Amino acid sequence: MTFAALQGDLDERAAEGLLRQRRTLQTPQSPHIIVDGKPYLAFSSNDYLGLANHPQLIQALQQGAATWGVGAGAAHLVNGHFTPHHELEQSLAAFVGKPAALLFSTGFMANLGVVQALVGKDDTVYADKLNHASLNDAMLLSRASMQRYRHGDMSHLESLLAKQHGGRKLVVTDAVFSMDGDIAPLPELLALCEKHDAWLLVDDAHGFGVLGQQGRGSLSHSGLDSPRIILMGTLGKAAGVSGAFVAAEQVVVDSLVNNAHSYVYTTASPPALAVALLESLTLIEQGDAMRAHLQRLIAKLRAGLSDLPWQLMPSDTAIQPLLVGDNKQALTLSEGLRARGIWVAAIRPPTVPQRTARLRITLSAAHTESDVQRLIEALHALAC
Ligand SMILES: *Cc1c(COP(=O)(O)O)cnc(C)c1O
Repeated sequence: MTFAALQGDLDERAAEGLLRQRRTLQTPQSPHIIVDGKPYLAFSSNDYLGLANHPQLIQALQQGAATWGVGAGAAHLVNGHFTPHHELEQSLAAFVGKPAALLFSTGFMANLGVVQALVGKDDTVYADKLNHASLNDAMLLSRASMQRYRHGDMSHLESLLAKQHGGRKLVVTDAVFSMDGDIAPLPELLALCEKHDAWLLVDDAHGFGVLGQQGRGSLSHSGLDSPRIILMGTLGKAAGVSGAFVAAEQVVVDSLVNNAHSYVYTTASPPALAVALLESLTLIEQGDAMRAHLQRLIAKLRAGLSDLPWQLMPSDTAIQPLLVGDNKQALTLSEGLRARGIWVAAIRPPTVPQRTARLRITLSAAHTESDVQRLIEALHALAC
C-alpha cells in the first residue's frame, strides 16, 4: 500500500507552506461570515453581486422546489430536461446575444465538455498560460495537440497559429483571469482567430454578471460579437447560484448535446436551481446600481493600497490580487489579517506560478465603503 507515500507527499507540501486545508463556514456566503465560531469580514468569494444569499433568490429556489421537487432524476437526454432548464437556456442565450445556450452542472464540466466535443487528436488547442485549470484539463482530455502561449502575448500566439497545419484550431482563454483579475485582449484574439480560421472559446466565469451592458459579460464589455466565439459563463459566481452555460451558434450547441460527455453522461442539475437562476438573471439585468457601487469599491481599494510594500497587480475588475511572492509570507499576511478579523485567502502554486504567491482580494457589491476602509487600514498596520 502507498499510504506512507501519500503522507510523505503531504508532509512535503506542508514543509513548503503549500498544504491546503478547508475552513467551514457557519453562516451563508456574505462579506460577514463566521468561521470556527469567530466573525470575519471576508474578501474571498466570487459572489461579486452579493446574490448568493439574496432573499429573492432564496424565495425563487423554495418556490422552484415546491413546484419541481428536489432532484432532476435523470440526464437531460433521458428525461431530466425540465421546463425551467429550457426557459433558462433561452433567457441566457438572449441575454448574451447568442442564438442558443446549453446548461451544464458546473463551469469545470462545461469546459471539459466543449473542448472534448469540438476537437480531437488531429486538432490543436491554443491556450493562454494563465488559463483556469479546467481549461488545461479539458485540453488533455480532448487529446488535441496543446500549444500554450505566454500570458496575453498575441505575437507568441500568432507564431504558434502560423506553424500548425491541418485539423481544427481552437483558441481558449479566460476572459477575466481568475487569479490576476486582468482582462484578456479579446478583440486581438478574435482578429487572430479570423485570420487563422480558428474558434475562440471565451471562459467568462468572472465577467458574466459583472462586466458589459447590464452585466452581459466580457463580450459586451469588449463590444464583440462573432459566430466564431463560443462563450462559457458560470452561474455560481456573480449569478450567486450554481452551474454554467455555453452560448454559441445553434449547430455548436447541437454538437455539444450530442458529443459533450460531461453533458450527456451526468444527471441534470435540479430544475429548482434553474428557477432561482431565472430570478438571478433578472437581478443581474437590473443591477446597474450594484455594479456602479462595485466599481467605486474597486477604485477606493486601489487608491488606498497604492503605497504598500506589496504590489497590487494591474486589474480593473473585482479581483484585486496583492502580490507577495513567497509562499510562507503570503500565508503569514493572510494569517495577520485573520487575527484582525479579516478573511482574505492566500493563493499559492500550483494555482499561480512559482514565486507569485498572493492575497487574492475580491470585492463584492455587498461590501460597504467602510468594509474596504477596514481592509486598507489592516494591511497598512501589517506593513509596519
Ligand atoms: C470558477 C471557474 C471555472 C469553474 O466554474 P465552476 O462553476 O466553479 O466549476 C471555470 N473557469 C474559470 C476561469 C473559473 O474561475
